[in-house]
Amino acid sequence: MVPPRLPVVVIAGRPNVGKSTLFNRLAGRRIALVADTPGVTRDSKDAEAQLRGRMVRLIDTAGLEEAAPETLAGRMRAGSASAVSLADLVLFVLDARAGVTPADEHFGQWLRRQGKPVLLVANKVEGRAAGASILDAYSLGLGDPVGVSAEHGEGVANLMSEIVDRLPREPVIDDTADEDRPLKLAIVGRPNAGKSTLINRLLGTERMITGPEPGLTRDAVATTLSDDQGRAIELVDTAGLRRRARVEQPLEKMSVSSAIQALKMAEVVVLTLDAAGGIHDQDLQIARLIEREGRACIVALNKWDAVADRNAARKAIIERLEDSLAQMKGVAVVTLSALTGAGIDRLLPAVRQAYEVWNKRIPTGELNRWFEHALQAHQTPLVSGRRLKLRYVTQAKARPPTFVVFGTRAEQTPEDYSRYLVNSLRDTFKLPGTPIRLQLRGTKNPFVNDG
Ligand code: GDP
Ligand code: GDP
Repeated sequence: MVPPRLPVVVIAGRPNVGKSTLFNRLAGRRIALVADTPGVTRDSKDAEAQLRGRMVRLIDTAGLEEAAPETLAGRMRAGSASAVSLADLVLFVLDARAGVTPADEHFGQWLRRQGKPVLLVANKVEGRAAGASILDAYSLGLGDPVGVSAEHGEGVANLMSEIVDRLPREPVIDDTADEDRPLKLAIVGRPNAGKSTLINRLLGTERMITGPEPGLTRDAVATTLSDDQGRAIELVDTAGLRRRARVEQPLEKMSVSSAIQALKMAEVVVLTLDAAGGIHDQDLQIARLIEREGRACIVALNKWDAVADRNAARKAIIERLEDSLAQMKGVAVVTLSALTGAGIDRLLPAVRQAYEVWNKRIPTGELNRWFEHALQAHQTPLVSGRRLKLRYVTQAKARPPTFVVFGTRAEQTPEDYSRYLVNSLRDTFKLPGTPIRLQLRGTKNPFVNDG
């Protein structure tokens, strides 16, 4: 369902060595603007490209080096640090005609310390101009250089093979959903919200005791069930719920610490509320934990059978939840009665849906179209008298959806502006009830004085 994260290939090097030209070649389209003037400001580019049958995400760092540091090497580091941190492979591009310059050397030293695989690319080798300076490139200690002419397309096919050879062999699966693995679900809530009753109801049998004396044998009972589509859902930490009953702890403390346990193991969390009792601070505290742990969440308004004014109850609870927790905006709410079973059939489909949202990946192109509009609709704020320049955004991972915005001094973005971006992301890409992570990475740099 969720594609593996694409391997990230970052193109770095001095201004004017031909990074953008190479990017265009590899991406197979002329997207980047190629300029003759060194240091011309261009937007960084990010594209999905197919190299020898492998899909990769290409990131061009050209133009990012305009940020502050004095030395060229410092600017190169500053401009590429964020991209390099995402990289599975860095193409370090040299101008074979110019040879290896001191800036190349410094940048190369820095790159070696980043611990990322690096492929040296000696560009502008069309005809026979380049021989000696290609050899020069060995001195960087970054392995064999590959000669190309990005402009004329020479050596590019070979370069593609060299790139593919250096990519992680398997699809990058650090954050991938596996269809065959059961979805891990936790049922949390404060004591007496009806969690045990709900779990028993879901399991369809009295497997779990709701009283204070749980039998040890019952801990071993499997807690995997299947949803309406026949897909497996595993209830996590039901043992914890049972164990808890034996431990003498203040009630509030108990439910929070057992929620933390369950959250660590879960992907989706059902926050179970006693709708007849209204929402308590402790419920909000648990909701905050769900957000902090980055889990998908749905809310079960339990004991619906015992609620007199249903509209008022629903409204009061949802408003309180959304007011207290920005990330709960649009969270799915299922009203049900664990006791009678009414409404219970809507729970697992909602769980499944929350799971899909939590796993969602948004293509970079769409994301940046949104970004442009969002920046236009609300211009970036002034920080210390200068307007922030936010340049582009990518989704770094899913589970939960995590986005990285790059730009000059992006890390100084005020809280309310990043909240605006998060809300806009949530609305535009339909990401209700899932914690959204937004990282802001400045291209201004932490490495000014280190080489
Ligand atoms: P960037 O700043 O590193 O992104 O470099 P660009 O891609 O903008 O290229 C800088 C200049 O080098 C442009 O004038 C390109 O036309 C030129 N260039 C790029 N690749 C080659 C090449 O393979 N051979 C030659 N001779 N010039 C190239
Ligand atoms: P837990 O502490 O969250 O596991 O809560 P329990 O499942 O032990 O339930 C606490 C009490 O609420 C028990 O007396 C249940 O019978 C009652 N209860 C649970 N679900 C419902 C429901 O949907 N409606 C009503 N009226 N009572 C419920």
